[in-house]
Amino acid sequence: MRVSLVFPIFNESACLPVLWDRITAVVASLAYDFELIFVDDGSTDGSFDILSAIAAADTRVKLLRFSRNFGHQIAITAGIDVADGDAVIVMDADLQDPPELIGEMLAKFEDGMDVVYAVRRDRQGETLFKKLSANVFYKILNWMSSTPIPLDTGDFRLMSRRVVAALSTMREQDRFVRGMVSWVGFNQCPVYFDRDPRVAGQTKYPFRKMVQFALNGIMSFSTVPLRWASWLGFVLSGAAGIYIIVVVGLRFTGHTFPGYASLMIAVLLLGGIQLMTVGILGGYVGRLVMESKKRPLYIVSETVGFE
Ligand code: UDP
Ligand code: MG
Repeated sequence: MRVSLVFPIFNESACLPVLWDRITAVVASLAYDFELIFVDDGSTDGSFDILSAIAAADTRVKLLRFSRNFGHQIAITAGIDVADGDAVIVMDADLQDPPELIGEMLAKFEDGMDVVYAVRRDRQGETLFKKLSANVFYKILNWMSSTPIPLDTGDFRLMSRRVVAALSTMREQDRFVRGMVSWVGFNQCPVYFDRDPRVAGQTKYPFRKMVQFALNGIMSFSTVPLRWASWLGFVLSGAAGIYIIVVVGLRFTGHTFPGYASLMIAVLLLGGIQLMTVGILGGYVGRLVMESKKRPLYIVSETVGFE
């Protein structure tokens, strides 16, 4: 049985030696035919040189280099695209996803599971804000989306060949891979682990990218915000209709009033809500524009270890 491990790499030179030690130890202890796929997502810190040295010395390694930074989700996609294992496991390169869990994942796979996703029981070394915002985000996402997406789960997961085949037919530009895998279906089950802090280096998800990632998840998996926009329009139009009757009634019974405050409130409130709903529309329209270009998801500049 062949197993592919996929690692997205963006400026992880400090993690790579430790990662390689831990991975080779785990792989040596398991009786499978492993291939190790590294996708260098436009690193600028020498990660590629370290990886090419590794790839030159070990025939199990396949290395892809992107022409620039395309982002974590795209790097994962490229790795899955070239993987030829019966099972494909995606994990982070910073050892926040412990390689020692692979054995347990493969045991579930052998029991007939198609997707084994790793759920974080405890998250060491992550800020309270990150944990809290992640929790709120996944609750909102699940409430809005008809695809149930497991809580406290990242991209650390095993996928069977048929899941990978299904995923490779889904070429959307904005990729929220963990949601896409849930969408595919088949037999999915969790394994639990405690998440360690990063072994070295900095997170590649600063606040700005986290917000972008969250919005992308919502817009890829739900059109509920669009429905909200129209409901809000209906409710406010109704309220405005009632208010018009009130104002006209007051006018004809001689109760005229200065009305500056109520006017301003109505104008500002409606203006704000209109901008917000236009913004929601704009978000979806923008995605349509990007999608309609039909560009490739990534450009590979170099490969090592592919015959
Ligand atoms: N990563 C990537 N491209 C990017 C950002 C991140 O390939 O543009 C990789 C990164 O090297 C790591 C994984 O994605 O292997 C997860 O990133 P990180 O650990 O920084 O995210 P966090 O765990 O802080 O959410
Ligand atoms: Mg990390």
